[in-house]
Amino acid sequence: MTPQPPQSPRFACATDENDNLRGYLLAAAATTPHAPALVERTAEAGLRTWSYAELERLVDDYVGALDELGLDVGDRVVVQSNHCSAAVAVLLACATLGLPFIPVSPDMPGERLALIVDSARPALFLQYGEGMRDGLPATVGTGRFGDAGLIVERAPRTGPRVRAGVTPTDPVYIIFTSGTTGRPKGVVMTHRGVLAFLRGVRRLGFVAPGDRVATTSPLQFDFSLVDTGMALGCGATIVPVPREELGWPRRFLEFLAEAEVSQVHGVPSIWRPVLRTAAADLARMRSLRRIVFSGEDFPLPELRRLSELLPQVQVVNGYGATESMAASLTAVPNPVPGTLDRLSIGRAHPGAEMTLIDDAGLPVTEPGVTGQIYLRSPALFSGYWNDPAATAAALVPDPFAPASGQIVFRTGDLAYRGPEGELYFCGRADSQVQVRGNRVELGEIERRLQQHEGVASAVVTLDEQAGAEPVLSAFLVRKDGAAGESATAAGLRSFCAESLPSYMLPQSIHFVDEIPLTGNGKADRRALLAGIPR
Ligand code: ADP
Repeated sequence: MTPQPPQSPRFACATDENDNLRGYLLAAAATTPHAPALVERTAEAGLRTWSYAELERLVDDYVGALDELGLDVGDRVVVQSNHCSAAVAVLLACATLGLPFIPVSPDMPGERLALIVDSARPALFLQYGEGMRDGLPATVGTGRFGDAGLIVERAPRTGPRVRAGVTPTDPVYIIFTSGTTGRPKGVVMTHRGVLAFLRGVRRLGFVAPGDRVATTSPLQFDFSLVDTGMALGCGATIVPVPREELGWPRRFLEFLAEAEVSQVHGVPSIWRPVLRTAAADLARMRSLRRIVFSGEDFPLPELRRLSELLPQVQVVNGYGATESMAASLTAVPNPVPGTLDRLSIGRAHPGAEMTLIDDAGLPVTEPGVTGQIYLRSPALFSGYWNDPAATAAALVPDPFAPASGQIVFRTGDLAYRGPEGELYFCGRADSQVQVRGNRVELGEIERRLQQHEGVASAVVTLDEQAGAEPVLSAFLVRKDGAAGESATAAGLRSFCAESLPSYMLPQSIHFVDEIPLTGNGKADRRALLAGIPR
């Protein structure tokens, strides 16, 4: 049976519905309409399963409500919600009509939201359920969606429609990154880019139709879109984990067991509280087969422990940036070999390639030599929203054939090759800092500290106080029990001195109960520095 085109007349302008995110993710509504698309916890009725056919109906309801507003292809819609059926349906309704969506979380601080609204100039702000957001400019239309459908409260301002329909090169969403690099940037992704990524990773076979994929990242972090795309694009089931359960390891695991989740996607930090207080409960995770992590390095001591407790589970290292959804997905051996001291990020997913370039702009081909990762891929973003200078710095002419006009992504990430050509991530180009004239890679110091038997996790950062010499500061979480007690500042300094040159030794060492996290669940270096008593 061939999939039926959705009802919107404007959508019908697209050349092939599978070139639209909506068509691709709901393809199973035509072939296996009763298969479960989404399982979620509801307030009243425990778990609720949405079939592909039901999810498609909800999308079409929302398409109907949005299509009446007179918006044109390219008009932006901010969608504020946690991950749930209604949110997925709104995002796919926006995709259907060519309205680029900007997902934001309900707990996003008002100031940050104001910056995003000011920059993206959306036509419409849609929020899930009750609650109010103050301070939206009067030029922005407002509405709500949820059990009662999609209701527009303040109509958006519109002009004459100039576009006839959605094309695959139109933007599908804009993600404002948390800005590891300091400044929030709006990463613009096209339908074509996202679908090239999803088709590429589908060939890796990490999700199959019977799978139930738990997603734990907030909607504003594109990792949640990767999860949703991987699950629905394979005809599998997406299972949003309620945000409030993540802070309670036992409840988190109970939810995973109740929803019969077969794989969990999330940043490494979601496993930290589980390992601390509910490690024994992992034995009961019988349906769990795979864990996909992404966003930052998984500290090896924690990864080893997790793999030991879940011998039947395959851990997959997802490496990449919002600018291409992800670049590679690489299985980690279980058990983790004792000799392994760094995780591989493997090779780019099918359809893409990562190459290394040195400071002089020359290709690095020798194993062991560090270079910057340049990514060529059909899944690249089209640019940073309203920021041509940042776009030109990241999307650059192919260094191997500049005359060809091909554009590649200069990732800002450093890596070297192993003997088989596989890559090893070793930090950001901008985390290479200068200490008294020496080039220092902060990740090297973190890795050494994590090799100490008493250290559970370590973050190193350069503390640059005005007027003072920059200081290398290490923040450490001790392991519980006797092993942890063996970690002392003096002991750790001499442990580092056994393998690192003197200019790489952390000058100040701080023990903390836990590493603070950004809204996306990555280590928050700025918060760590702010916590130092001055
Ligand atoms: P943000 O700037 O908000 O952190 P991203 O989520 O796009 O935005 O961050 C991408 C960066 O995160 C990558 O460029 C890389 O430095 C780091 N990263 C992502 N995945 C991994 C991984 N598996 N291992 C190590 N670092 C990673």
